[in-house]
Amino acid sequence: MSSRSDFDVVVVGGGLGGLSAACRASQLGLKAVVLERGTDAQYLCNSRFSGGILHINGHNVEEPAEDLVKAIDEFTLGQADRELARALAVDARRAVAWLRDEGAKFIRVGQIVWQQHVMAPPRPITPGLDWKGRGPDVTLRTLEANLLKRGGSVQRGTAARALMEHQGVCVGVEAEVGGKPVQFGAKAVIIADGGFQGDLGLIGQHITPAPVKLKQRGAATGVGDGLRMAQGMGAAVTALDAFYGHMLSRDSFSNDKVWPYPQLDELGTAGIVVDSRGERFTDEGMGGIFVANMIARLADPLSTWAVFDEDVWNGPGKSARIPANPNLTRAGGTVHQAPTLRALAQSMQIPPERFELTVAAYNQALSAGKLASLQPARSSLRIPAMPIAKAPFYAVPLCAGITYTMGGIAIDPHGQVQRQGGGAIAGLYAAGASTGGLEGGTGIGYVGGLIKAATFGIRAAEAIAQGTKP
Ligand SMILES: Cc1cc2nc3c(=O)[nH]c(=O)nc-3n(C[C@H](O)[C@H](O)[C@H](O)COP(=O)(O)OP(=O)(O)OC[C@H]3O[C@@H](n4cnc5c(N)ncnc54)[C@H](O)[C@@H]3O)c2cc1C
Repeated sequence: MSSRSDFDVVVVGGGLGGLSAACRASQLGLKAVVLERGTDAQYLCNSRFSGGILHINGHNVEEPAEDLVKAIDEFTLGQADRELARALAVDARRAVAWLRDEGAKFIRVGQIVWQQHVMAPPRPITPGLDWKGRGPDVTLRTLEANLLKRGGSVQRGTAARALMEHQGVCVGVEAEVGGKPVQFGAKAVIIADGGFQGDLGLIGQHITPAPVKLKQRGAATGVGDGLRMAQGMGAAVTALDAFYGHMLSRDSFSNDKVWPYPQLDELGTAGIVVDSRGERFTDEGMGGIFVANMIARLADPLSTWAVFDEDVWNGPGKSARIPANPNLTRAGGTVHQAPTLRALAQSMQIPPERFELTVAAYNQALSAGKLASLQPARSSLRIPAMPIAKAPFYAVPLCAGITYTMGGIAIDPHGQVQRQGGGAIAGLYAAGASTGGLEGGTGIGYVGGLIKAATFGIRAAEAIAQGTKP
C-alpha cells in the first residue's frame, strides 16, 4: 500500500463543509488535503446542487445569537443539542463573513428574511436542476482555488474507506485511488462526506421501509462512508431517523424537470395529504419537511396525494420561491382537477366515499376551530390550514424527496467526534451533513444545511489549529 503522511489535516469530502474546513485550516498554516470521491472538475455534491441560501431555520444569520438560539429551539421542539445550537448561532455570521473574505459573492433578495445571503449568481426561478455557474458552484471553485494557492490540494477520484488509528487516536485515512489502497497520514481528520441519503441499505434501516420509493432530491453522493468509518472507531451517533427533504411530484422518478423544484410543500400543507384509502395519515400543519418524512415512513411511500382547492392553488401554490403554480404543469407534472370532490376521487382512483368524508371532516373541524380533534390532529404550529371548498378541486400525486440525512456522527461544538460512552476521539472531527445533533427530533426540525456545513467546517479547522500549535 502506498502512503503519504505529511499532512496536518485530511478532509473527507469536498462539499461546502469540507472545503471550508480545508481552506480555513490552510489559512491557519496547516497543510490540508481534501479527499474527494468525485472525479469531475465540477464533481457533484449537494453543496453544488443547492439553492445557495445561507439561513438558520428561515432566519437571517445576522440576527442576534440569542434570537437564533430561540428559533432553533422552537423549530426543533427543544430537541437540538444546546451547545451545537449556540455554536451555530454565535458563529454563523462569522462564517458568512469568512466566506465573503474568501471571495464568495452574495446577493440579498428584497426584504425576504431568509434570503439575505444567497450565493451569487443565484439560480433562476425555474423548475428542475440548474447548478452550472450558479452561486454554490462558483463558491466551491473559489474555495478550491484558495486552498491550492495556500499549498493545499483536492485529490479527486479518492474514496475514503477507513480511518487509521494509533492507540485510540485518529492518525489518517485509508482511501481507494484507481482501485488501489493509499494511506493519507495526518495529525487530524475531518469527515465531511455529506450524510447517508444515497445508501439504500442505511436509509432502509433508519428512514423508510421502501428505499427505492424515495426520490433522491440531491446528488446522492453521501453514502454513509463517514458514518461507518467513525462508528468503526467507536464514535457515537445521534438518532438517524430524520431527513431534510420535501414533497415532490411523483413524476420526478421519470421527469427530471420536476425535481428538485418545484417543491409541493405549500400545496400539501395548506390543504391535506391523503393516502390511497382517501384518508389523512399525518399532521400537515407541521410543514412539508415533516410530512415528507411521514410519507417516507409509510409501507408504500408512493401512495399519497396533496389535495386542495382553487384558493390554495392560486394562493400558497403561487407563493413559494419556485412555485408549483405554474411550474409544475408547465414542466409536465401531473395535476388532477375536477369540478367536484367525487369526480376528483374517481380520477385519482381512490374510494370516493371515504375521500369525501375525509375532506368534509377536515372542513368542518377547520370552520369549528377544532382541528386538534381530527384523527390525526391537524396543528397550526407552522402552517395555517385552508378549507377545501372552492371548485375546481385539485389532487397532485406525491413522493418524498430526500435531500440529506439530519442524524449522523455525534460532535461537540468544535466538531470533535464523540466516543460512544463519553469523551472525544482524539484527532477525529466531522462537519456538515455527516453530523447529527442539531436537526431532526420528533418535529423533524430543519436548521439549515449550508450554514451548518460552513460554520462547523470552520470551527473544526480552528480547533485543530489550536491543538496543533507548539
Ligand atoms: C437541491 C438542493 C437545494 C438545497 N438548497 C439549500 C439551500 O438553499 N440552503 C441550505 O442551507 N441548504 C440547501 N441544501 C442542502 C445543502 O446543500 C447541504 O446540506 C450541504 O451542501 C451539505 O454540505 P456537505 O459539505 O456536508 O456535503 P456535500 O456538499 O454533499 O459534500 C460531500 C462530499 O463528500 C464526497 N464524498 C462522499 N463520500 C466520500 C468518500 N468516501 N471519500 C471521499 N469523498 C466522499 C461527496 O462526493 C461530496 O462531494 C440543498 C440541497 C439540495 C440538493
